[in-house]
Amino acid sequence: MIIIDGKKTSEQIQEEIAAEVVKIKAAGGKVPHLAAVLVGNDGGSETYVASKVKTCERIGFGSSLFRFPDSVTEADLLQKIDELNNDPIVDGFIIQLPLPKHISDQKVIERISPKKDVDGFHPVNIGRMALNLPTYISATPFGILKLLERYAIETTGKHCVVIGRSNIVGSPMSILMARNGYPGNCTVTLTHSKTRNLKELCLQADIIIAALGKPGFLTADMVKDGAVVIDVGITRIKSETTKSGWKLLGDVDYEAVAPKCSYITPVPGGVGPMTIASLLLNTLKASRREVYGG
Ligand code: NAD
Repeated sequence: MIIIDGKKTSEQIQEEIAAEVVKIKAAGGKVPHLAAVLVGNDGGSETYVASKVKTCERIGFGSSLFRFPDSVTEADLLQKIDELNNDPIVDGFIIQLPLPKHISDQKVIERISPKKDVDGFHPVNIGRMALNLPTYISATPFGILKLLERYAIETTGKHCVVIGRSNIVGSPMSILMARNGYPGNCTVTLTHSKTRNLKELCLQADIIIAALGKPGFLTADMVKDGAVVIDVGITRIKSETTKSGWKLLGDVDYEAVAPKCSYITPVPGGVGPMTIASLLLNTLKASRREVYGG
């Protein structure tokens, strides 16, 4: 059984990107620039955005952070997006979600130019993903693909069961694992809360991607010997055994499932740390105009 180390893989990718930036600078090229927009004072969102900006600085990307109070109007936020769409310094930008209730997430996402949508949430980029065209794949699915690739995990002809059909993880993962390419070429079963025979389906799976948000849901009796298990779940619960007072739980009953697997991602330290690497890879792609040219 091999434990897939997402932290180490993410750090390796970040080092590779940093080396690219050195080359770009030496050749007198434009340094990739990621901008982030943060609305309100939600603690979690602040931490995520701060860490993204700090990582950009560390690897040599340019970065900027634009903050707005909770009370910002939708019109003002949309105007900021127009500015960023037209700012030649900014290669890609993200709007940290969720937004306050009076602002439509969807309207905001659709206002971002698909060319600069490094979060990969714009319907045009999701459509391009479904058509297997060059695109920005959103951070979590992209991170999972990178882990499969870096660990050279065979996917062609395998049966992949995805648990959960959210727009940000389960649905795109099912499309990506079925596409003609690597990682991909799987026979995919997309399961969800209305699926009746989940255990039987999981027992047929060579690869299971669990993304439902229920701690310890995937138990050993649902996994066949030698399966690859990717645990996307993150549930934060109170803990008396950790310094922070919190611990993170995945969707997989790790202790019991791991011994049966050929590969497994732990929580924390599996899929989670890959999201930042994905965002940086997308920003590098954006600065190279790899998706839309121009
Ligand atoms: P969501 O809450 O939007 O959707 C959950 C999905 O699970 C739904 O499609 C639902 O039908 C399905 N589901 C619920 N109960 C089920 C059951 N009993 N059997 C089968 N399917 C069932 O989920 P999400 O936003 O994709 O997040 C899922 C988990 O992944 C959460 O724990 C979230 O925190 C985590 N997550 C982690 C990362 C990361 O970077 N590691 C990124 C995004 C989400």
